[in-house]
Amino acid sequence: MTDRIYLDWNATAPLRPESRAAMVAALDLVGNPSSVHAEGRAARRIVEEVREQVAALVAAEPRNVVFTSGATEANMLALTPALGAGQLPRERLLVSSIEHPSVLAGGRFAGNAVDKLPVRDSGEIDLCALERRLAEFAGLRVLVSLMLANNETGVVQPVSEAARLVHQTGALLHVDAVQGPGRIPCNISDLGADLLTISAHKIGGPKGVGALIRRDAALRLADPLIRGGGQERGSRAGTENVAGIAGFGAAAHAAAAELTASGPRVGGLRKRLESGLKAASPGIVIFGSAAQRLPNTTLFAVPGIKAETAVIAFDLAGVAVSSGAACSSGKVQPSHVLAAMGVAPELARGGLRVSLGPTTTESDIDRCIEAWIVVSRALLKESPGMAA
Ligand code: PMP
Repeated sequence: MTDRIYLDWNATAPLRPESRAAMVAALDLVGNPSSVHAEGRAARRIVEEVREQVAALVAAEPRNVVFTSGATEANMLALTPALGAGQLPRERLLVSSIEHPSVLAGGRFAGNAVDKLPVRDSGEIDLCALERRLAEFAGLRVLVSLMLANNETGVVQPVSEAARLVHQTGALLHVDAVQGPGRIPCNISDLGADLLTISAHKIGGPKGVGALIRRDAALRLADPLIRGGGQERGSRAGTENVAGIAGFGAAAHAAAAELTASGPRVGGLRKRLESGLKAASPGIVIFGSAAQRLPNTTLFAVPGIKAETAVIAFDLAGVAVSSGAACSSGKVQPSHVLAAMGVAPELARGGLRVSLGPTTTESDIDRCIEAWIVVSRALLKESPGMAA
């Protein structure tokens, strides 16, 4: 297994050594962070230090960070009609049609209060459609949820432009920024997000920890998902996952430093990968390539090759890649993201995602290209009517 090549960083990133070390150290803390004795205070110190590190990653205030069990829970916590205590409930939720399933599910809004916005062929949300829909909903209290960058295509969304439109109408904006940190700037104020979701395991921290972050403490999360004790200032009950949070902090600190250090290098590797894939398969389609993308992500298809088969063939060749989103793997229907971009279902069934990270090397990329040459030739031979 040592010889394997991991190119599925958008599904989850390998644990960073500094995250592991922070977690191991935190596991030895005996105290409950809510206890007043020295043991409790030591555990509390870790939680509060990490709150600062996570806040710094998105330039927010530490008191506005709520730790959750991951981005799915953070999205669920954000998407509620009761957002903002003391006000009347939000009546409508607008989401883009390429959101993660945890946003598409609509949180705690009734199904008939959720509307989906179209995206353009480029993979970017359609700002004109957003503007029109906001005008149609004038007079209603609206919450909008848009992702910063798509997990399948890597297409970076025009979030700050969207925020301007959203705020002009008095609506609120939640941003699922899970794929952003360490790859593109994620400053909560520059993005114009009222609420922002991030996840530890996408930045080299442990799985099962995330955060919902507010830009302004005045926006109350009035409808906790988990009620009980008063942890997280009443926004999320339950004894904190201290070791997981410790690992999250180390990862957040490292990801913040990485933005300038490894972004251009990873972008260069992606260019090398795409040149190699194009040379091997002239008929290749690279989705979202007309738009700005995360530097680490390529989603491509070659007519006649099905993604499920190619993922297995890559796996046997020692290379871990994905067919679109990990969450939808195992289901055979084409990706909702490619469908929303107007990609024909036959081509969408071939969507293969290769996602890189800061420890990916040139030799990993070259081995991936070599594997693709062998895999694509073999699979096209099996596919009648398709020429290699
Ligand atoms: N949003 C996006 C854009 C994602 O890529 C993911 C992970 N696939 C999630 C939310 C859910 O994150 P978590 O695994 O932390 O629940």
